[in-house]
Formats: sequence, structure tokens, C-alpha cells
Amino acid sequence: MSSLVFGLLGLLEDPSAACRNLTSSLGIERTAVSPLDLRYINSRNSYWNQKLNAYAPACVVYPEDAQDVSLALKVIKATGSRFAIKAAGHNTNDLFSSVDDGVLIDLTHMTGKYYDEHTTLATYEPGSSWGDLYDFYLQYGRTVVGGRIYDVGTGLALGGGMSYLSPQYGMACDSFRELEVVLPNGDIVTASSTQNPDLFFGLRGGGGNSYGVVTKYTVQSRPIGTLYAGNLLYILDHHEKILNATRDFILYNQDPKAAILMNFNVLTTPDLDLGLDQACLMFLVYDGEDPGDAFANFTAIPYLLNTLGPKTYPQPCRQRVPHRRAPGRR
Ligand SMILES: Cc1cc2nc3c(=O)[nH]c(=O)nc-3n(C[C@H](O)[C@H](O)[C@H](O)COP(=O)(O)OP(=O)(O)OC[C@H]3O[C@@H](n4cnc5c(N)ncnc54)[C@H](O)[C@@H]3O)c2cc1C
Repeated sequence: MSSLVFGLLGLLEDPSAACRNLTSSLGIERTAVSPLDLRYINSRNSYWNQKLNAYAPACVVYPEDAQDVSLALKVIKATGSRFAIKAAGHNTNDLFSSVDDGVLIDLTHMTGKYYDEHTTLATYEPGSSWGDLYDFYLQYGRTVVGGRIYDVGTGLALGGGMSYLSPQYGMACDSFRELEVVLPNGDIVTASSTQNPDLFFGLRGGGGNSYGVVTKYTVQSRPIGTLYAGNLLYILDHHEKILNATRDFILYNQDPKAAILMNFNVLTTPDLDLGLDQACLMFLVYDGEDPGDAFANFTAIPYLLNTLGPKTYPQPCRQRVPHRRAPGRR
């Protein structure tokens, strides 16, 4: 019985019809069908979790606005094709932003960003990385609440989004003010506290790929100036002290401008045998020039490296976290 159902579903699913239709309606500038097309290769191979590169979309579309997304969703629905939506591809799960033999909607051509000096609201499309957004808004002395690593994408905020600024301003989604959303049926709607408030509620942390495709985010921007920030690198001889300092920071820190991110085992050096795979890299960020004694417990532990000092906001986020390799690859 179930094989009959799946067989019928298979007949309804037609990724090649979807791709043909999308190529003729969006044009070859916004569609990549050949696995040899450089855009296709880049879209398929730019997942943070490299295991996901194994999935082969039937085609990739590159919408430039909400109308393109609407058209793509209508074609996908009419042909019964499977599909996935991809921003910066940092979700580590199979088939969340990857698809096998279906349509991949790659949002990275939608990189518009604006700032309204009167309202202090920032509006951006979904295709930029957080680093690009931080760089852009710095010229206004402003930033947006987003990810802690430069390359991560805007899909983060749909799942909540933990930022170095979260102790002050909440999760990234708490700064949403208005979203432009393409619903699964292709309708383009606005979600805010006054328009489609249920949809707005769901999009503030309900997860990407849940209710529609967000094609524009309007968020409350935040003031940003010089920070005191950087890394402390420890060897794990001191792991007890590092854990205690981290616990005390979580329990007792009262200053919302101070934030930390602790990483163990991030420095694998299989070819050099430096012992640094037993290291801890601590990220410390203070939204202001004088952290007082907020990080004193961490600087008191003997470290290998200390890069703490004055920084602009994008700088502490500019760490490159190595992509997760597919099993069996070095
Ligand atoms: C190195 C690294 C660092 C990280 N740092 C942080 C951090 O500091 N704080 C934190 O909270 N999380 C962090 N994360 C987790 C991160 O929030 C999630 O992996 C998030 O899903 C990444 O979003 P993306 O746009 O890069 O990924 P994608 O995989 O492209 O998208 C994530 C999900 O959202 C969907 N989606 C994306 N854009 C849209 C859209 N416009 N409309 C509808 N659905 C959409 C996708 O279909 C997918 O299901 C980190 C992850 C990694 C790998």
C-alpha cells in the first residue's frame, strides 16, 4: 500500500518540469540547471556542514525580490517538486536548507540593505551574512542583533538567534518590527504586531522554513561604538579554572554589556602535533571601552594568547569557524 502511495507521489513530483518552467519564467540569469554551472557548484558546496554537499538539487534559482520567490513557490506547488530554501547554509541538519533532486531557492542574490535615520530602523534582505550587515551598518554608528560568527546567515534570526548583544537587547528575533513574507501559496504579505500578528509571532523564533519565505526584515537597529573584545586561548591544563570562571560569569555577571562564548577543541592540528586540539578558545565581548572587572576571572587564568583590546563590532565576529567536514574527509 505504502509503495503505491509513494509511487503516485513520485508521479506528482516533477523537479525537471519545475526547473524547465522556472528557467523560462525567471531566465537563465536567475536559474542554474547544469551541475557544471559555477553558481550551481557554489550553491551546492557552500554548506557549513560539508556532508550536505552530497545532496544534488535538480536546479537552483536565485530570486532577486519577493515576486521571484512568489513565482518560484507557485511553480514548485504546481509541479509538486520538492524544494529547500537556503540563506547562508549554516544549518547543520539534512534537508533543512538542502534538497536532493528538487528546487533549491538560494537567497544570496537578495542583499539589499537600508537604514532610516529618522526611525533608526534597519531593513535588509535575507541574502547577506551577519558580517556583511555589521560592516554596512557601522557607517551609521549602528548595528543589528545577529550571529556571533561573520559567515552565518539571516536564517539564524528565524530560530531566535543568540548574539553578543543578547544580554542587552534579547534574541535577534526580538528586534523584528516588520517582515515581508511569501506564503507557500505565493501570496506576498506583511507580518508585524499589527498585520498578520499570528504569523509575526510564529516567525519570531519558530524556525526557518516554517511559515513562508522571509524576503525582507525590518528590525530595530542598535547603537554601537568601540568595543573591548578579543580572544583568550588556553591549553586545557587549566580546564577546571576555565569551567569555574565560566560558571561564575553565568551566575554572577550583572553587566549586560559583557558577553562570552566558550569553545573547546576547536583548534585541531592533526599534522603538527602541537597539542592545541586540547585548547579552549574564549570569545569575550564588551559593548563599551571599559569592561571594568567583567572579564577579570578569565584574564587571571594563564593563557597562551590574549587579543583583548579596542575593536569595532564586526571584528570579534570575524573569526572563521572551520566548516564541518564530511565523514572520511581530512
Ligand atoms: C559556525 C556557526 C556559528 C553559529 N553561531 C550562532 C550564534 O552565534 N548564535 C545562534 O543563535 N546560532 C548560531 N549558529 C546556529 C545558526 O543560527 C543556525 O545554523 C542557522 O540555521 C543558520 O542560518 P543560515 O541562514 O546560515 O542557514 P541556512 O541553512 O541557510 O538556513 C537555516 C534555516 O532557515 C531557513 N531559512 C533561511 N532563510 C530563510 C528565509 N528568508 N525564510 C524562510 N526560511 C529561511 C532554511 O530553509 C533553513 O531551514 C551557528 C552555526 C554555525 C555553523
